[in-house]
Amino acid sequence: MVKMLIGGEQTDGTAAGELEVVDPATEEVYETVPAGGADAVELAVGAAEAAFGEWSRTDAERRAELIRGALDLVLERKDAIVETLTHEQGKPTLEAAGELQHFVHGLHYYADLATKVRGVYQDLPSTLGRSYGLVVKRPLGVVAAIVPYNYPLTLMGTKLGPALAAGNTVVVKPASSTPLATLKVAELFHEAGLPAGVLNVVTGRGAEIGEALVTDPRVRRVAFTGETGTGRRIAELTGPAFKRLTLELGGSDPMIVCPDANVPAAVKGAVIGRFWNAGQSCLAVKRLYVFDEVYDELVEGLIKELERYECGTGWSRPEKPKLRIGPVHSGRGRDELATQLEDAVARGARVLIGGGPPEEQERGYYFRPTLVEGAPHDSRLVQEEVFGPILPIFRVYDLDEAIRLANDTRYGLGSSVWTYDARTIDRAAREIDAGMTWINQIHYGYDELPFGGLKESGLGKEHGLEAMMDYYFETKSVVVGGLG
Ligand code: NDP
Repeated sequence: MVKMLIGGEQTDGTAAGELEVVDPATEEVYETVPAGGADAVELAVGAAEAAFGEWSRTDAERRAELIRGALDLVLERKDAIVETLTHEQGKPTLEAAGELQHFVHGLHYYADLATKVRGVYQDLPSTLGRSYGLVVKRPLGVVAAIVPYNYPLTLMGTKLGPALAAGNTVVVKPASSTPLATLKVAELFHEAGLPAGVLNVVTGRGAEIGEALVTDPRVRRVAFTGETGTGRRIAELTGPAFKRLTLELGGSDPMIVCPDANVPAAVKGAVIGRFWNAGQSCLAVKRLYVFDEVYDELVEGLIKELERYECGTGWSRPEKPKLRIGPVHSGRGRDELATQLEDAVARGARVLIGGGPPEEQERGYYFRPTLVEGAPHDSRLVQEEVFGPILPIFRVYDLDEAIRLANDTRYGLGSSVWTYDARTIDRAAREIDAGMTWINQIHYGYDELPFGGLKESGLGKEHGLEAMMDYYFETKSVVVGGLG
C-alpha cells in the first residue's frame, strides 16, 4: 500500500480500509492506497495550518528556490513518475511525459512569479495628520486542492503552483483512482526540502474525505476541478462559509472550420484536440462545425488520421505509422460513451469510423476513435459532456449558424475558429460564449493565460498572474496616518 503524506510523514491517516487503484489497460489492481476519512483530514489540515505561519513568512525568493529544487528532483525521477501515471490513468507514455512536462512548466511559471508580487501606494486626504494607504497582499492560509482523474499532475500543478508561491499551505485530494503519481511528486517536494506540512496529500473517496476537507473551517480556499455536478455540491458546501472558491468544471468545446481554413492544420487540431488522452480532456474539441465548402475534404482527412490509431496499453508502442490510443479511464466511463453514442445513432446519426470497443481486445477499457455525423443537436452526444474519443461533426452554411450552434450548450469552457478572416475572428472572439477562443490553434491551457469556464463550466480562473493575485491572496487595505 502507498501511504498518504501528512505533515511530512507517510501515514495511513488512521484509515480503516484501502482503495484499489486499477490499471485501465489490464483491469487488474495495480496498487492500493488508504481509504481515508475525516480523521485524515483533521490531521492534514492541522499540519497545513501549523506550517502556514512560517511558510507565509519565508522569503519569496527562498520559496521559489525550494519549488525549483523540487522540480529538478521530479525531472530526475521522471521515468518512474511517467510509468506510474500510465498505469494508474491509462494514458500512453508519450502523453504521460507531456503531462509531467506541463506540470513542471506551470510550477516554474509560478516559482518565477513568487518574487514579482507588488502592492499599491495611495495618497489619502488627511484627518489625523497626513496619511497614505497601501494595498497589500496576504496569503490566505490552508488551501484544499481537489483534482480529477484525467490529468492528475497538471491539474494539481495549476493549484499547487500559485498556492505555494504565494505562501499558502496545501492539502491535495487526488481522484481515488489516480493518487499514485501525485503521492510520488509530493514526496519529492518534501525530499527537496519543502517544510513538513506545507504540502499534504490525503487519499479517500470524494464523498467522504473530499467533503470533510472542503467543510473544514480552517480551509480558506477550495480549488476544485471535476464534473459540473460535483462542483455544484462543493459550491453548496462552501457557500455558507464564503470560502474563496474556483470551480473548473465540464466542457463541450465547439470548433468551427471556415471555408478559408488551412484544412490539414484543422484536421490536426481536431485530432489532437479530441483524441489526446483518449478524449478525456475538459477543453477537448467535443463538437465540430464545418462549412459546407470544406466539409468533405475535412471528413476525408479526419478518417485517414483516425485509421492510424490502434488501441493498446500505454506502455507499448505501435508500429509506424500507427498511433497509440490508450484505454479510457474506467469501465463506467466506457459504458457511458456507448450509451451516449447509442442514443444519437437511434435518432439517425451515422458512425463514419469507430463506434465502440475494438473486437480483438479482451481486457482494458478501450474505445476506438469515433466520428459521427448527423447527430441531432438535442441528443445526449451533443448536449452532454462526452468524456472520451467520440467526435460529432456538423455541416454548416454560414457564420450565424455556426455561432448559434456553438452556443447551444450549457457549457462554456473553450472554443476555436479556424480562419484567417479578421471579421470572423472578431465575431468569434466576441460572440462565442466560452472562457477561451483559440484561432487556428489546438485547444490547450497555457500556463501564462487565465483559463476558466463560463456558464456551467465553472467559476473563476486558473493559470496566469490573475489566478495567483485573485485567488491565492487576500487584498487588504492598510491606512498609515498620524504622520504630521
Ligand atoms: P469528479 O467530479 O467525479 O471528481 C473530481 C474530484 O472530486 C475527485 O478527486 C473526486 O474524488 C472528488 N469528489 C467527488 N465527489 C466529491 C464531493 N462530494 N466533495 C468533494 N470532492 C469530491 O470528476 P472526474 O474525476 O470524473 O473528472 C472528470 C471531469 O473533470 C470532467 O467533467 C471534466 O470536464 C472535468 N475537468 C474540468 C477541467 C477544467 O479545467 N474545467 C479540467 C479537467 C477536467 P473521487 O475520485 O474519490 O470521487
